[in-house]
Amino acid sequence: MTFPQVSQTYKDPYNYPEGIAFQEGQYLLMKDAKVSVLDWGFLHSDATYDTVHVWDGAFFRLDLHLDRFFAGLEKLHMSIPFDRSQVADILANCVALSGHRNAYVEMICTRGGSPSFSRDPRDAANRFIAFAVPYGSVANAAQMERGLRIAISDVVRIPPKSVDPSIKNYHWLDLVRGLYDAFDRDAETALLLDTDGNIAEGPGFNVFAVKGGSLRTPQFGVLPGITRRTVFDLCTMLDIDVGVGNVSPDALKTADEVFITSTAGGIMPVSSVDETRIGNGRPGPVTGKIKALYWDMHKDPTWSTVVAFPEDVRGAS
Ligand code: PLP
Repeated sequence: MTFPQVSQTYKDPYNYPEGIAFQEGQYLLMKDAKVSVLDWGFLHSDATYDTVHVWDGAFFRLDLHLDRFFAGLEKLHMSIPFDRSQVADILANCVALSGHRNAYVEMICTRGGSPSFSRDPRDAANRFIAFAVPYGSVANAAQMERGLRIAISDVVRIPPKSVDPSIKNYHWLDLVRGLYDAFDRDAETALLLDTDGNIAEGPGFNVFAVKGGSLRTPQFGVLPGITRRTVFDLCTMLDIDVGVGNVSPDALKTADEVFITSTAGGIMPVSSVDETRIGNGRPGPVTGKIKALYWDMHKDPTWSTVVAFPEDVRGAS
């Protein structure tokens, strides 16, 4: 097995702490991956992307991330010159070359720009970019241990009638506003509302409420997260009742347990919502069980795809 060359190699050609990107047919140092200021991805947030993680050397549920990315491309009338298996190979190469066995891996398509300065998006040449950087989490180690302090912001998440939330996107001004709201209220992150005043989602995560052993998560105005979907799968395996529907701010505050879900962090406990302590203010047993099983799934080839790293290949030959 051979690996592509990085444009500018370090002493060790397979170890790049800042990560590796792929752009225009080349594997690059992260600092060399750039988009034009005229790219509509930058100017208009006209882009879609997906983020998958690699844990202990294996992608988790890569197929679902590729499904979501390619579905987003189609809905946005974008195209890239690679099929699913080629994108999977590019992502694996970024990870393998970076040397990171726990990685945060992104695939992006921007609208690009028009060479003739046309304002018609159909004239744009779409651009594909991918990268692998060190794994990152919404919650840090201390927050994982004691649970996050979350605030419900008055900000309404951009409605699905405006932007289809199933297309993973960079429309984050509402989420960032919510974050600043949360910081003003001494919380660590935020949840936004949907247009009916129910809970929607937060900056980079979905949310679940646990009550009387049953789980509920918002249905409308949210990205159908792959970690959320994994919680559904785990609940089916464990015969735990789980439903999607409206979750009011009150229902969240009076839940026995609350947790958030994201590719960046997995299953993360919440200890308070606004000033209200959730349960006994410590991560609860249902959250703990789902979190443990979620990470166990990463070792199962049913859900994971092993990345071949250069040192493994060299070691084996
Ligand atoms: N909601 C938003 C707005 C997100 O950006 C993300 C992930 O980045 C999620 C939810 C969680 O989705 P996933 O579990 O697929 O990472």
